[in-house]
Amino acid sequence: MGAPRLEIDLDKIGHNVRSLCTLFATKGICITAVTKAVLGDPLVAKVLVDNGIKAIGDSRIANIHKMKEAGIETEFTLIRSPMPSETEEVVQYADISLNTETAVIKLLSRYAAKHGKRHQVILMVELGDLREGIMPSELGSAIAETLAMEGVELVGLGTNLACYAGVNPTPENMAELCDIATRLRSEYDIPLEIISGGNSANYEWFVSTADLGQVNNVRIGEAILLGRETLRRERIPGLYTDAFTLVAEVIERKTKPSFPVGPRSQDAFGDMFEFEDKGSVSKAILGIGRQDVDPSGITPRIAVECLGASSDHLILDAKDTGIVVGSEVTFDVDYSALLRAMTSPYVAKEFLGHP
Ligand SMILES: *Cc1c(COP(=O)(O)O)cnc(C)c1O
Repeated sequence: MGAPRLEIDLDKIGHNVRSLCTLFATKGICITAVTKAVLGDPLVAKVLVDNGIKAIGDSRIANIHKMKEAGIETEFTLIRSPMPSETEEVVQYADISLNTETAVIKLLSRYAAKHGKRHQVILMVELGDLREGIMPSELGSAIAETLAMEGVELVGLGTNLACYAGVNPTPENMAELCDIATRLRSEYDIPLEIISGGNSANYEWFVSTADLGQVNNVRIGEAILLGRETLRRERIPGLYTDAFTLVAEVIERKTKPSFPVGPRSQDAFGDMFEFEDKGSVSKAILGIGRQDVDPSGITPRIAVECLGASSDHLILDAKDTGIVVGSEVTFDVDYSALLRAMTSPYVAKEFLGHP
């Protein structure tokens, strides 16, 4: 296969998801595996389901539609609050959606009735990270309104931390979520059986907290795909961090000055960088750029250094690696680089292992 390409090791993803399912099950937590970083890829989804996952979440209804069309049989959750304009598709393809606006739930209710479906709703609670969520003081009225609607069933509460403001999941905010659930259960006489505590950032809370309260679900993407928790991006013991390999090809290899020549203004992206004069250096250019990957999120697996990138070129200090025109250079990817590489039509995807 040509370059650039992303090699996706399905066996490593299978190992990671199996390990995490087993680990979280020891404290009664069920994982909703999140597929948005792989755009709902059906081969990845199949590996997840074959390795113990009973629920898949994605932020895009198009991804959920794609997985369903490909024959992936599991429960699907839309994990981004639905846009009003997509609510009819949401009831058709997703079993559950995470919601914060009763105006949207009203539309879900209308289309659920139209299609003869029962759509399950989880209300998201704002606990300090300041992305999606209903303020705790306003949950009561949201619940009352939702309970009055036909076609939708309120099945639980959720929260999302560590995404916008980087607020950590803690024993305190997780207990707050559970206390809110307890209060609302008795106030409205409802089961609220799903308490969805968060995402890959909940790993540290999970391992270090003896009593997880009523939290019985987490929505996990990055930890499965890249083997890391997301507060400090530390490797989770026993997981693979290299299930994805980015491969790019050398298109120029020359000895050049390290310091630019001539008067300087902004670069192609409006930035101005400082350069250090290190004399002549051995440089390589790879046929990959910002249109294909987030250059700040890639780490070479050989002893070269990334100097910079434009739309279509990545410039390396090739050091004494001996790479030549036509050589392939491999990289680890972080979440941002993975997302962009998956989304770029110019990056081929090659699947290794499992069917
Ligand atoms: C993306 C997302 C997740 C998964 O996050 P990871 O860091 O990949 O585990 C969970 N919940 C919501 C609402 C999300 O948007």
